[in-house]
Amino acid sequence: MLNIVLFGPPGAGKGTQAEKLITKYNLAHLSTGDIFRTNIKGETKLGVLAKSYMDEGDLVPDEVTIKMLEAEVNKNPESTGFIFDGFPRTTTQAEALADFLKGKGTEITIMLALEVVEEELIKRLLSRGRDSGRADDQDENIITNRIKVYNEQTAVVADFYNAQNKFQKVDGVGSIDEIFDRLCSVIDTQQVSL
Ligand code: ADP
Repeated sequence: MLNIVLFGPPGAGKGTQAEKLITKYNLAHLSTGDIFRTNIKGETKLGVLAKSYMDEGDLVPDEVTIKMLEAEVNKNPESTGFIFDGFPRTTTQAEALADFLKGKGTEITIMLALEVVEEELIKRLLSRGRDSGRADDQDENIITNRIKVYNEQTAVVADFYNAQNKFQKVDGVGSIDEIFDRLCSVIDTQQVSL
């Protein structure tokens, strides 16, 4: 299996690149942000809970996020691999994912970390907010809090994968196709060496 953690701060381009990668490598795309937003739209219990955190730009508690993610993986038993987008966002989530995948006889192949400077992130998020109407992209205070949460709680997740030699940085500035090519060349090199 090819299991990729697509990593990076809010606005780094994870969702855009994930959509291209799933087609090329025949993977299932699991975006925790998208799953939460679907639940919010459907007014499920999980959606109501998630909304209260997402509206502030805070993380949804680990326990519910992990349970939801595991359920989504289990919905795709035929999949030959996954792209985890927006997950894991804490070390606790990374540890839970490792245990869960181990139980299925598989593991994370690689973490690809998209690097984009903060000024560019804020620009991209505000522009997405205008186009998509996503509430958490329209308010600069919420955006700033999401970047702060990323720096304080999520950035350390890279160390977890780095310790296993699975961490790769990729320049996230450039055209969508340029960045995609960079990601593919890292994946292809990694696969050859597996
Ligand atoms: P972005 O990466 O642009 O912040 P996402 O759609 O990935 O956008 O996430 C939106 C929000 O969903 C986050 O700010 C957070 O509140 C919640 N969320 C998404 N993934 C997780 C996660 N793994 N753990 C906790 N909360 C999450």
